[in-house]
Amino acid sequence: MSAQQQVPVVVLKEGTSETKGNQAQRNNITAAKAIAEIVRTSLGPRGMDKMLVDTLGDVTITNDGATILKEIDVEHPAAKMMVEISKATDNEVGDGTTSTVVLAGSLLEKAEELITKNVHPTVVVEGFKRASQKAIESLRQIAVKVDPTDKTFLRKIARTSMASKMVSANSQELADIVLDAVLAVAEKTDDRYKVDVDNIKVEKKAGGSIHDTKFVRGIVLDKEVVHGGMPKRIENAKIAVINSPLEIEKTEFDAKINISSPDQMQKFIEEENRMLKAMVDKVVAAGANVLLCQKGIDDIAQHYLAKAGILAVRRIKESDMYKLSRATGARIVNNLDELSASDLGFAKLVEERRVETEKWVFVEECKNPKSVSILVRGGSQRVVDEAERSVHDAIMVVKDVIEYPYVLVGGGAPEALASLKLREWASTLSGREQLAAEKFADGIETIPLVLAENAGMDPLDTQVNLRSKSSTGKARYGIDVINGRVTDMAAKDIYEPLAVKEQVINAATEAACMILRIDNVIAASKAKEPSNHSGPSGGGGGMGNMEM
Ligand code: ADP
Ligand code: MG
Repeated sequence: MSAQQQVPVVVLKEGTSETKGNQAQRNNITAAKAIAEIVRTSLGPRGMDKMLVDTLGDVTITNDGATILKEIDVEHPAAKMMVEISKATDNEVGDGTTSTVVLAGSLLEKAEELITKNVHPTVVVEGFKRASQKAIESLRQIAVKVDPTDKTFLRKIARTSMASKMVSANSQELADIVLDAVLAVAEKTDDRYKVDVDNIKVEKKAGGSIHDTKFVRGIVLDKEVVHGGMPKRIENAKIAVINSPLEIEKTEFDAKINISSPDQMQKFIEEENRMLKAMVDKVVAAGANVLLCQKGIDDIAQHYLAKAGILAVRRIKESDMYKLSRATGARIVNNLDELSASDLGFAKLVEERRVETEKWVFVEECKNPKSVSILVRGGSQRVVDEAERSVHDAIMVVKDVIEYPYVLVGGGAPEALASLKLREWASTLSGREQLAAEKFADGIETIPLVLAENAGMDPLDTQVNLRSKSSTGKARYGIDVINGRVTDMAAKDIYEPLAVKEQVINAATEAACMILRIDNVIAASKAKEPSNHSGPSGGGGGMGNMEM
């Protein structure tokens, strides 16, 4: 042997760490399971909330899986993937974020059992993928088609999504508010409905109680009327929505004006006045009695507007301008010269109201608005924040059903049935594939079992009871968490969108499979942190970082 062969070949940069094979897989599975463990106790109406404190000391209290995971700072790449699937589920369907993570964690746990028995991970992955398709097929078979405009069903869906939240006591009123909002902005093309949730403006303000949350058939602006002399309330408002300033524009470059006599000064001011008045005159000529402006309004223009009895608001956010236009039917006008009566929007009432310490303008009772608002109230900032998240979930589930009008009963009933069907199917397979399908069935059964566990029920009794009742072929036995029993969930009016359940299964399976396929983790050395900043394990304060 020549001496040369003994010189090591450096492939990876110095400081790079590499974990291989079984070890890598186990680390990843452990990290992902740890994340699932965090949110597990939050699942369902009897789930607990989490209090999260960030590095600045801000407190969030929530039950929402995606929010919990967003607030904690995870370090391990596999743990990060779990956080990502909950975010993706939140964006896609809005609900089921906790279920997704719990299911992914449980699938990984079941996979680990197989890998320990020397089943190759790719066999598990293949088996899981096929099983997930089977599970979705069996859910589709038992899903109930609903009329997407049937309010009674939509209300049940909205209430179920809020049943597990702090706002559950108010879920009836909130569900009605959400329904009004979503149905107002739903648009029908051909025979399908489409909902753009951006057209629902959710404003929140601490104060009052959740009970004071309101649906506004129009837009709430967190701005006040610009001038004290203007009317604060206008009925039958004719609204000009303008995105150019009512100001004399300053020149881009420095201009000097030489004035040699007081006379000229006077003329200069008069000319400015005249120009501003001319602008206001155009608004008056168009017949508007409300002016909503994206840019500034000069003091003098304000004075003339007030004199003309026009209510004006300035510096409105661009996103609100579009909503105002959709709510009132106004055309957003770029150039005041073009403003005409046909550009005006309409609202039965525009009024400035006091909301706690601030004054907000309500543009409401619009006819047939294509953009509406929900004003969320609640005793404290934490309460309003969580109420807003719950309203968001409810908006999303109602949207899910309007767009894809199939529902399933909740309380873990569909999961219990899917797991039963999967076991039947697994018995037709052979070899290792059968093992994977059976494990998948166990994994999906975790959802009802965790619901039961969180409700203080005995897991084993529940499992036996649930299996025997589900096998009667009726698709509806699930966990009645309030009474701690296995019952027919349809009688309880607990319904969930099929879209959510499909997303939960797809997202959880994808994440689990992706993690299972990894057999090598190559991590570059961390860039040096600045010396005044503690490292990842240095406990940077607050929640700190989770290292696994
Ligand atoms: P996720 O973030 O996954 O939506 P939740 O904490 O909202 O988690 O819990 C959702 C689960 O709780 C679903 O499986 C749903 O069917 C179930 N659930 C909701 N309301 C009830 C109820 N009243 N009884 C039993 N289960 C319920
Ligand atoms: Mg939920």
